[in-house]
Amino acid sequence: PLDTVDVVVVGSGGAGFSAAVAAHDKGASVILIEKEPVIGGNAKLAAGGMNAAWTDQQKAKGIEDSVESMRKDTMKGGRDLNDPALVDVLVTHSKGSVDWMTAMGADLNDVGRMGGASANRSHRPTGGAGVGAHVIQVLYDNAVKRDIDMRMNTRGIEIIKDDSGKVEGVLVKGMYKGYYWIKADAVILATGGFAKNNERVAKLDPKLKGFISTNQPGATGDGIDVAANAGAAMTDLQYIQAHPTLSVKGGVMVTEAVRGNGAILVNREGKRFVNEITTRDKASEAILNQTGQSAYLIFDDSVRKSLKKIDKYIGLGVAPTADTLVNLGKLENIDGKALTETVARYNTFVTSGKDADFERPNLPRALNEGNYYAIEVTPGVHHTMGGVKIDSKAEIMNAKQQVIPGLYGAGEVTGGVHGANRLGGNAISDIITFGRVAGEEAATYSKKN
Ligand code: ADP
Repeated sequence: PLDTVDVVVVGSGGAGFSAAVAAHDKGASVILIEKEPVIGGNAKLAAGGMNAAWTDQQKAKGIEDSVESMRKDTMKGGRDLNDPALVDVLVTHSKGSVDWMTAMGADLNDVGRMGGASANRSHRPTGGAGVGAHVIQVLYDNAVKRDIDMRMNTRGIEIIKDDSGKVEGVLVKGMYKGYYWIKADAVILATGGFAKNNERVAKLDPKLKGFISTNQPGATGDGIDVAANAGAAMTDLQYIQAHPTLSVKGGVMVTEAVRGNGAILVNREGKRFVNEITTRDKASEAILNQTGQSAYLIFDDSVRKSLKKIDKYIGLGVAPTADTLVNLGKLENIDGKALTETVARYNTFVTSGKDADFERPNLPRALNEGNYYAIEVTPGVHHTMGGVKIDSKAEIMNAKQQVIPGLYGAGEVTGGVHGANRLGGNAISDIITFGRVAGEEAATYSKKN
């Protein structure tokens, strides 16, 4: 071995960084490796928010919410196929994880609505800037402050175990150093999902063959193979989520918060066709049933002003704008007369507080201010719910439901937390909470071994 350390973390997304910082703060020495030349994984791209219930931020805004409501929404969104023990960890730790991030310098003071949630519980930076980039920046700064050894361009290849089956470290391949062994009592796999690997995706869910993906290039799922070779059991691999709103013009993912803050979805005929803030699986299916298998997010300047991220979409040229809905329709080949009627009818629902057509549960603002915008969207592969089987201490288990001593998993590489469908805002919550749990548990384990 070239190096000896208490805990190795594989992957530098939100789960990996949370695990590294938490393990360090529990007294462990830590090396974090990342196969890509840049840190942050997909976590860095997350735009929605961090779900948490009964937080100080919610209380300050007078939002009524509870851990039980978050639990119910998460289970229902996952079609009740989630592992209840893991959901329990997610929801009961959610406030603590927001506080943990806040104590490290994060701003999670803006609270918005995401699909499938019965309250505003998606925490994000003030002004609606991307939550993922912010969270990764804060975690990275904290890792630097703690002098954690971070190695980019370094791929985790194989878990090394002793004769008794206990983890002894990980074989890695550095871009310049080549292969070497990092000896460690515990290894935490935080390697993310495999949404960018269409071959793997299509094998598990043939409907998704050839779909574009929202993910960064590293989301290929090699962590799944590393874990499987170490004897890990897998769960729920067949559940793969399409995000309903990828921009057709630019391939960029348009955050659910655009709908949460008031945008509606219409088809080419200018008509609404779904409760815009339903769960991602239902919204994706509904869009694929429309003419051309796409739809338009329609909003006005009041929605634009409520969410900083929208200016980015406008800057990228994916959100054409016009002074009236008829003119907007002309630009995008949408029936403008029908669109005008649709928006007028929707605005009456905002006034009455009840969506008589699709029972949309939040109606934050009427669409009648300034310019109008249209973003053409279609679903893309976004999140893989399944993965390595873990218990509520983030210990990875084998097919006999026994813990593999010294091997931990956190984040998208694991399965069970989200069941058949993940709610928007639950990924950041998952990676921070389970990253912390894995880091603390691995540090404690390492002290005993
Ligand atoms: P999560 O959201 O669960 O934290 P991310 O996708 O954000 O997951 O981050 C996972 C990170 O792990 C990505 O940056 C990815 O490039 C990295 N990664 C994946 N496989 C390996 C591997 N075998 N060795 C090192 N890093 C890996």
